[in-house]
Amino acid sequence: MKCPVCGAVYRPVRGGEQIQASPTPQASTCRRCKADLSDLLRLYDQAIWHHKQALDLLSQKRYSEAATYNNQALALHYSNADFHALAGKLSALQGKFREAISSWQQALKFDSQNAVADHCLQLMTKITENYYKHPI
Ligand SMILES: [Zn+2]
Repeated sequence: MKCPVCGAVYRPVRGGEQIQASPTPQASTCRRCKADLSDLLRLYDQAIWHHKQALDLLSQKRYSEAATYNNQALALHYSNADFHALAGKLSALQGKFREAISSWQQALKFDSQNAVADHCLQLMTKITENYYKHPI
């Protein structure tokens, strides 16, 4: 995620994973501009939580419930490509291909390297092309 003040890329430090490199960990301040990002990180954590619920429901094939959770995640943190990629997948699984495509395009806008979105979008373009050439 990015610092909204100066645009520096910010990587939240997770306890446990981190070897105590500095004696004063500044997990919730931007390293560049020192802006207080704790509110933002709280929102980000909530978004991740909703996203995980969505993945969990997806594995149980409860697509519309999963989409509800994933939309919550997007509402909290709109610029996360993975959330958009999942939104696309959930739309596609529910037969909403137009929405799926626009979600994947959104995902690629935020992260042009997003493999899921890139792969699905190419696949979907191929399918829809065939469909319009040879309607069932
Ligand atoms: Zn900053």
